[in-house]
Amino acid sequence: MDKTGIEKMLRPKSVAVIGASATPGKIGYTVIKNLLKDGYKGKIYPINQKESEILGLKCYPEIGQVPGEIDSAVMCVPAKVMAEVVEECGRKGVKGALVITSGFSEIGRKDLEDEVVRIARHYGMRILGPNIVGTLSNSEKFNGSFAPCLPLPGKNSLVTQSGALLIAMDMATYSRRIGYEKMISIGNMADVDFADLIEWFQDDEETSCVSLYIEGLRDGRRFIDVAKKSNKPIIALKSGVSAHGAAAAASHTGSLAGGAKVYSAAFKQAGVIQATDLDNLFYRGLTLSMQPPMKGDNFLIITNGGGNGVLATDAAERFGIPLKFAPDDVQAEMKKHMPEYGSAKNPVDMTGMAGNDWYYETVKFAIMNKWTDSVVVLYCETAITDPAEIAASIKRAVDDSGVKDKPITVSFVGGEKSDKAIGWMVENGIPAFFAPDTAVNAMAALREYAKLQENKKSDGAKTDEKAKKLALEVIAAARADGRTSLTEIEAKKVFELYGMPTTKIGLAKTEEEAVKLSKEIGYPIVMKIVSPDILHKSDAGGVKVNIKTEAEAREAYNTILKNAKAYKADANIHGIAVQEMAPWGTEVILGSVSDPSFGPTVMFGLGGIFVEVLKDVTFRVTPVSKAEAEEMVSEIRGAPILSGVRGEAPRDRKAIIETIIKYSSMIYDLMDEIAESDANPVLVYAQGEGLRVADARIILKKK
Ligand code: ADP
Ligand code: MG
Repeated sequence: MDKTGIEKMLRPKSVAVIGASATPGKIGYTVIKNLLKDGYKGKIYPINQKESEILGLKCYPEIGQVPGEIDSAVMCVPAKVMAEVVEECGRKGVKGALVITSGFSEIGRKDLEDEVVRIARHYGMRILGPNIVGTLSNSEKFNGSFAPCLPLPGKNSLVTQSGALLIAMDMATYSRRIGYEKMISIGNMADVDFADLIEWFQDDEETSCVSLYIEGLRDGRRFIDVAKKSNKPIIALKSGVSAHGAAAAASHTGSLAGGAKVYSAAFKQAGVIQATDLDNLFYRGLTLSMQPPMKGDNFLIITNGGGNGVLATDAAERFGIPLKFAPDDVQAEMKKHMPEYGSAKNPVDMTGMAGNDWYYETVKFAIMNKWTDSVVVLYCETAITDPAEIAASIKRAVDDSGVKDKPITVSFVGGEKSDKAIGWMVENGIPAFFAPDTAVNAMAALREYAKLQENKKSDGAKTDEKAKKLALEVIAAARADGRTSLTEIEAKKVFELYGMPTTKIGLAKTEEEAVKLSKEIGYPIVMKIVSPDILHKSDAGGVKVNIKTEAEAREAYNTILKNAKAYKADANIHGIAVQEMAPWGTEVILGSVSDPSFGPTVMFGLGGIFVEVLKDVTFRVTPVSKAEAEEMVSEIRGAPILSGVRGEAPRDRKAIIETIIKYSSMIYDLMDEIAESDANPVLVYAQGEGLRVADARIILKKK
């Protein structure tokens, strides 16, 4: 997409404030005051029909009368005249507008918003908002907003869907001493959305990390595509995950799907690091903006206090970067800078005796050593040391090491002096925090970033044209029959077309047909009710397994029909599915739902009671790559069950991964047709012996 409009609105050489006001307290006044006060160097044109001058600047009655060129317009006029004003801006050649005014889609007036965007598009103009606080840029000294001041400078930039949060975080940058380069309020996203800004930030040299506060994404797929290509870290805090929750749905997957899990999956796939809360967004963002990724798993914790070291060790495990013992040569070196009773293992505990020199020597060696991928330095304030000097020693050790590609984070626990030392460290490019857990969590973000970068390289599945064509025929036939769900026989056919092994199966409409089919397939067999009105067959007494003889087959046929009629008198019954009985295996589930933001997603988890009770499932947005399918299998809590517990042989992991990929292609290819689907259970056998889809369900989109 053309970045000009965004470039002009974020780095304008001239700006018009439309709806400028001479009355203090009005937004149209505040914006002009802020532009002047915070040192904006470009031209400012207040537009107001009555005033001749505002805050010493010449006023124009309308934008068309401004003599020079105008890059960007800040809109403060009422919503009802916005379309007209945008039209005038378009004619004047304005390429970007920050629409501060509210009263659009957020109060149900999407029509007004659509009109504004329609006109803007006509003139090749981009719209940020409406319903925004504005934008702040330290490098441009541009405060085109009603936020009180520019944030404390930093290399991190924020895009937020909450304007109130922008103002609050802006001021918090000073109390927390965590700086930002740009803060952008994105508002209703009528035009410019997160993906557009992420794209724009790629070329913003002032920004080295993009932080996002997200309530909801409109085009989740584009977000993933754009974020995947980002050359700088992106960290996102997603709120409102419960409201997004699952719609009441006919299959298990529907009730398991949740905004939270889908968003987390999408962030992973997009290579976006997730923040768990606001605090986390602040300090992980700071760290990502200052330090390189942590490229391997080895890191040293260096401390002068045992307790701090243990806390950090616990945190390391909690945040996914478990600590390892340092190799002997590293330990030997560390021993030189600690008393006899210190510990060189990792955490490296120099004890309370540690002074400036020990910190200097230890940190410098740790960074330069080839084993270490990163270093977390902890300090507890003591009576014999000065936090400022310790901070200076750490900084000097980093500089003297000459190493630039290994990250470091620091924690100082103590009083005012420690507090000051933290500020000094951050000003000098080293992320420093109050608590050891925070320093470790920040480091974990750098490790996550490195891992996500590796994963981003893999690509998704390709469309299987032949399978798709035949599957669409099966679906069309069901639709012609007036149905919005496939029978198990049809669903299994579609699964087969995509290469997933199912069971031999046939439909019997009479007892004699059932007996004949049973013989053809071979005992033992399974019989199930086939009815578009009975989706959960067991609940209706509609499944009989392990049928071994003709007599049993006759009895099962009649019992199932009787049960089904008792369950639902007016059910439309197609007949009985007679199928091969698959040998017993570990039950897993595959499912799919269509997410409102990301479209088709697939779910994987353990089947049976695990899915009903433990909800031990994981999601990915389709198409799912091999690496992603592998992750899915590894990340469920029940993963050890698949590796073989209590002497059981490991399950066929390779077959599961292949099946997830095939299932993902099926869901991706048929996204216009399938609303949701599942395969529950899929029976998984020992390594090398594959798996079988024992039950399949496909529910179609209503058309
Ligand atoms: P429901 O509609 O109730 O989910 P299923 O088709 O999943 O019905 O059947 C219920 C159970 O019967 C399954 O969980 C599985 O244990 C067993 N089962 C179903 N079909 C087969 C089969 N072809 N081979 C072996 N076991 C089967
Ligand atoms: Mg089932």
